[in-house]
Amino acid sequence: MSTFTVLNPATEEPVATVAQASLEETDEAIARAAAASAAWRAVAPGDRARLLRSFAALVDTHVEELAGLEVAGSGHPIGAARWEAGQVRDVLQYYSAAPERLIGKQIPVPGGLNVTFHEPVGVVGLIVPWNFPMPILSWGMAPALAAGCTVVAKPAEATPLTAMRIGQLALEAGLPEGVFTVLPGKGSVVGQRLVDHPSVRKIVFTGSTEVGQSIMAGCARQVKRLTLELGGKSANIIFADCDLERAAATAPYAVFDNAGQDCCARSRILVQASVVDKFMSLFESAVASVSVGDPALASTEMGPLISAAHRDHVASFVPPDAPVAFRGSAPSGPGFWYPPTVLAPVRLDDRAYTEEVFGPVVTVTPFADEAEAVAIANDTPYGLSGSIWTSDVGRAIRVARAVETGNLSVNSHSSVRYWTPFGGFKQSGLGRELGPDAPDAFTETKNVFISTTEA
Ligand code: NDP
Repeated sequence: MSTFTVLNPATEEPVATVAQASLEETDEAIARAAAASAAWRAVAPGDRARLLRSFAALVDTHVEELAGLEVAGSGHPIGAARWEAGQVRDVLQYYSAAPERLIGKQIPVPGGLNVTFHEPVGVVGLIVPWNFPMPILSWGMAPALAAGCTVVAKPAEATPLTAMRIGQLALEAGLPEGVFTVLPGKGSVVGQRLVDHPSVRKIVFTGSTEVGQSIMAGCARQVKRLTLELGGKSANIIFADCDLERAAATAPYAVFDNAGQDCCARSRILVQASVVDKFMSLFESAVASVSVGDPALASTEMGPLISAAHRDHVASFVPPDAPVAFRGSAPSGPGFWYPPTVLAPVRLDDRAYTEEVFGPVVTVTPFADEAEAVAIANDTPYGLSGSIWTSDVGRAIRVARAVETGNLSVNSHSSVRYWTPFGGFKQSGLGRELGPDAPDAFTETKNVFISTTEA
């Protein structure tokens, strides 16, 4: 039996050893999910809603336990981990309203009428990354269950603990066996099997663009439904007419949140040239005051990276001759620490400027005017997130419409709200998660003609 030892990223000490599911165990879990499908879709909408609300309530009474697991197993600061566990509760609660609202249409046609039904697609394979193990699990799981699908979820190999506990809570809340299964294991085994198995009718994947491309190709072989949430290289566009103090004070949190391991990280700061010096001075103070350290402390704002290998990867973007403008602090000693790092000026072909770093590294680039800001922001294969700072409402709307990205905030760094749609343009993804329509993505529309012609 193969196992994986989860390390505490802040101490490098083992937290738990987890058995990895084999191919056979994956097939068995998929078979159980397929067998549970007919009964789950037949549960009366109000009863399915009640089960999801019970599940949400049970998560609520375990927020502290789940947050503690995420601190130990993923190195997330406790404040963030509590928010993440609370997000699972809130997402379940939000989608518990959906079973009773999967409303079709009645379309008048000659000789009768057509009605449409939202039929659940069947078994959903949910492949979750390590950066936000709890929220991203819930974004796929909750609307899929609400739509009447059964779900087999594969957490990332490095961060399975909270997902496994949430799987247990689902059973304790009364979800029938096989309706929601958490299957820890390797992407190349469990994840790939979910993609290849014909009984899995839809894949929801969040992770790297590279793996997303191979999953898309795999799904194409069976014309399998697919949602992809992939990488990002988002721009934080700061115009001279904005509240520069606020833009600079919040910019660290727009990119160093979760130690930069965030697909929405605004890792390219674009600043209007006339205020770039003033911005850099304000930004330097803001970066210096980011509290980096023990994730168990409530005052900590940034924890360690997920692994030694990932820290090496992040460090590769900052070679000895990198244009480091300034850095924040990071603890020394055990733990996968990396300090918040600001690069400027950077060449526009520098890897740190063009590739997703997925760590606390940000570049600052000046621009002359609105047209150049938009051109630079769009000069990337990605399009997930971004921010615009300006006091000109017209400009805010013009630039928001011109930037090719799925989620933007104006005078704010807000990224994801579960009641609004989330997803990417270009190579940042395919389809949308969250928002009121998310359960529809787990259904097929069936169109039925009913004749009213007299016999
Ligand atoms: P991956 O894309 O490799 O992993 C994401 C998930 O997919 C994990 O559960 C992984 O399993 C699984 N997986 C890997 N290979 C396959 C496969 N062939 N078939 C099915 N599932 C598979 O991301 P990484 O964790 O390797 O991170 C690499 C980079 O990707 C990051 O540095 C970052 O740039 C980006 N990324 C972006 C994320 C986002 O939110 N957009 C999230 C995570 C990463 P396993 O855990 O076993 O590898």
